[in-house]
Amino acid sequence: MAKGNISVNSENIFPVIKKWLYSDKDIFLRELVSNACDAITKLKKLSGIGEASVPADEKYRIDVIIDKENKKLIIADNGIGMTKEEVEKYITDIAFSGATDFLEKFKDESDKDAQIIGHFGLGFYSAFMPSERVEIETLSYKAGESGVKWSCDGGMTYDIEVFDKASRGTRIILTIAEDSKEFLEEYTVRSVLSKYCAFIPVEIYLTVEGEEEKKDDNGNVIPKMPINDTTPLWMKAPKDCTEEEYRAFYKKVFLDFNEPLFWIHLNVDFPFNLKGILYFPKANHEYASIEGQIKLFNNQVFVADNVKEVIPEFLMLLKGVIDCPDLPLNVSRSFLQNDGYVKKISSHITKKVADKLKEIYTKEREEYNKYWDDINVFIKYGCMRDEKFYDKIKDYIIYKDLDGKYLTLPEYLDGKENKDVYYVSDENMQSQYINMFRENGMNAVILPAMMDTHFISFVEMKEDGTKFRRIDSAVDENFKTDESISEQDKEEIVKIFADALGDETLKIEVQSLKKADTSAVILLSEESRRMQEMYRSYGQQFAGMSDMFRDEFTFVLNSNNPLIKKLSDIDGEDRKMLCEHIYDLAMLSHKPLSPEQMTKFIERSNQLMSKII
Ligand code: ADP
Repeated sequence: MAKGNISVNSENIFPVIKKWLYSDKDIFLRELVSNACDAITKLKKLSGIGEASVPADEKYRIDVIIDKENKKLIIADNGIGMTKEEVEKYITDIAFSGATDFLEKFKDESDKDAQIIGHFGLGFYSAFMPSERVEIETLSYKAGESGVKWSCDGGMTYDIEVFDKASRGTRIILTIAEDSKEFLEEYTVRSVLSKYCAFIPVEIYLTVEGEEEKKDDNGNVIPKMPINDTTPLWMKAPKDCTEEEYRAFYKKVFLDFNEPLFWIHLNVDFPFNLKGILYFPKANHEYASIEGQIKLFNNQVFVADNVKEVIPEFLMLLKGVIDCPDLPLNVSRSFLQNDGYVKKISSHITKKVADKLKEIYTKEREEYNKYWDDINVFIKYGCMRDEKFYDKIKDYIIYKDLDGKYLTLPEYLDGKENKDVYYVSDENMQSQYINMFRENGMNAVILPAMMDTHFISFVEMKEDGTKFRRIDSAVDENFKTDESISEQDKEEIVKIFADALGDETLKIEVQSLKKADTSAVILLSEESRRMQEMYRSYGQQFAGMSDMFRDEFTFVLNSNNPLIKKLSDIDGEDRKMLCEHIYDLAMLSHKPLSPEQMTKFIERSNQLMSKII
């Protein structure tokens, strides 16, 4: 037996392994299984070019075996194997990267299928994360080579010896350390494998030593099923995928019982490699916060969910899988953020999403309208996060109007020069105003989401002249009669109310509105309302400044209303009571009354009714 020293700068490597120990300990299994998968991919490739002789009916497989009694977890493959020199070179001297060497040697641009599973940081050495001892038993595919056994207990020395191994391939035998015993439990191993290896291109079988084989009713052994799907849908050509397959894949991967709305199959070979499927999920209900999930894969090996360095942030609201085989995963996150390749991926995906939306908008406008309630938050968020996305998508942003029709801004404005867009944020609260709009043949759009407040400011900033105003922010010229009221009459009405209500700060105005049965309305200017909303969302920061953001509404009295016209004829308590009641009624459709206001309102209503009897 030979002994050797691992030529690692121990100050560098082992602290890193240790650090991993406390974060994602389970990734060692991903590393070892993907090494096994690499070894098989390499052998397939060699056999394909006649460099290795492998029986035509060879069944390539990876076995993960749990031997709880002996505290062993074994990862075995029937891939390329290693010679003694290779073990020493690739395993012992980690400065060498076998995959890079291999690629250099067998570079073949035309063969895109034989991608080598990329670099995952420490690769093989992560085997030490859960182990007190790591052994490799391997036999190379090369004729005349003998088997090799390498073992190391985590220190700086290792043993290497010739070993009698019957079949080609590699077994990595981990003696699991006391603090990592969970990796001897079938449940843990199975869940780690399903997390990282569910779509690896070689079949993986999980065996628990000592467990009886499953048999059917006739006593026949039921053949084991691989734990993975070796040809996930995203790897297929889009033209070969059926709608049912897309839907089934979505349900299986995202465990979402709702049907997805639609999806985009990404399939790029040039100038970079990228495959994946992005689904637009159905929002559960109006106010559900959308929580997406984008699973990042590297050559069918799961890397992580929602890696914001690679995937544009707003896409995280979608659900999907993205496979980037060329992604340099052994580099730091900050490198990824600044990497040109990653930027290209990002803008490619953004473009594809915009293209798909455009396609549905132009070819199936009805469908697009139906999707809108579910997808609008995603689109609006996307526009605000990424102006390039806005530029691509702006013509396909639609708004639901009072009749439930979906219109673009130009459709809504219908050639009008004035680019004021009225909107409703709460159909119940603003129903009185909606009625007023309807009666005057006017339209408004419905923007109920929290995000809409930000979105309209964004659109105003981008689109010159466009101005959004809430339906209760001003009296539109259309609502007024031609009748002109004298300043004197106006002043009189204002005085009556000012005296009756006794609030000196209240802003009172008089207008002649067509809708005669409306006695008064409360208006809040768009500017003060947005200030208020800002104050609410950043409440803490503005504490103490609340006076600045007081409800600066205007109480508008309708001089065309019979009651208002007659008020001057009524005197004393009755007049005061009517004024207060008119005020409360207007207030009611502006915001909920306070408990005291409500109590007074009810008492007064009763008093008024009793006057009729
Ligand atoms: P990487 O896979 O990124 O090159 P690793 O540290 O995981 O880095 O592995 C180092 C090298 O060891 C591999 O490139 C490969 O040559 C060799 N190796 C590791 N596992 C196996 C295996 N199961 N079969 C054959 N060779 C292997």
